[in-house]
Amino acid sequence: MTTALALFSGGLDSLLACRVIQNQGIKVKALKFVSPFFDYDLLVRQDEYCSEIFTRYGIDVELIDISAPFLQMLAAPAHGYGKNFNPCVDCKILLVSTAKGLMAHYDASFLITGEVVGQRPMSQRQDTLRIIERESNTDGILLRPLCCRALKKTKAEELGLIDPDALPHFYGRNRTPQIELAAQLGITDFPSPAGGCILTEPLRGGRMRALYNLHQPHLLTPDNTRFLLQGRQYRFPSGAWLSLGRNEAENDHIESLQMEKDLIIRAAADRPGPSGLLRFSQGLADYELAAAIVACYLKKNDARIQEMQVINHGGQSHLLKVEPAGPEEIEALRW
Ligand code: SF4
Repeated sequence: MTTALALFSGGLDSLLACRVIQNQGIKVKALKFVSPFFDYDLLVRQDEYCSEIFTRYGIDVELIDISAPFLQMLAAPAHGYGKNFNPCVDCKILLVSTAKGLMAHYDASFLITGEVVGQRPMSQRQDTLRIIERESNTDGILLRPLCCRALKKTKAEELGLIDPDALPHFYGRNRTPQIELAAQLGITDFPSPAGGCILTEPLRGGRMRALYNLHQPHLLTPDNTRFLLQGRQYRFPSGAWLSLGRNEAENDHIESLQMEKDLIIRAAADRPGPSGLLRFSQGLADYELAAAIVACYLKKNDARIQEMQVINHGGQSHLLKVEPAGPEEIEALRW
């Protein structure tokens, strides 16, 4: 049986691309790429996610963590950034090239994506689709089943592996034809098209830009990126970083990111308030500054001196008494 390897975002278009190719008797193996900027949390529930997609949509999906090459590409994308820090064209080139490198492993004859010509202003223009093919070396093997009738023929069509006339012919931003096709295929519970790539957000995308502008390549790791994408962020004169949760869920998440040398800082005696995670600290002055910032956000911080806990990776806790930092001092340290 012929196999196609699909780039699967989980959005409606990629679902439809997989299903219309499956309907032509082709086995589809779907790859869902994750990075700290999109869908990284799926890694902790990988099996659950994959079986959910299979049960709901009949699609055999596998997660691929693309963090390391993505972080490298993000430093200098050849085609630049979009409105924020999103390098969409280079992102697509990276994902397609990586999928191409996996074709032999899955014994796949061609690749598919859910792209639709004209759907997005930059990354899905016809000339951009050609650039993606050319620069990922996938000319002739990358099929876009939702709009292939408007594009140059690929080998899958030339060899008669698929029948292009039985495929949809979508164009542009109108989503109605996709929704109608989904209904015909019995897909009713598809995710909303507003996908979540953090790099398109002004605030967190801007924070990533600031990280890259430090020109310190050793800092560009998935762990540091995940740290910076959570909560309120502060950078100390010593070079230490502090992340502060803004609610209970964020506090839990921030604490779960603790690495060997990181310190968790929160109020003593289980008082309600934020958790802080301190990374790259240089010693007592950083602990005190971090504790003073966390103390400033405690619910009832009217006491002049607050007692705070500093907890290391082994769970050992030390008490520190600090005066809460003032708003101006805090603001000056924001990323
Ligand atoms: S929005 Fe993010 S995930 Fe999507 S193409 Fe652009 S950089 Fe890649």
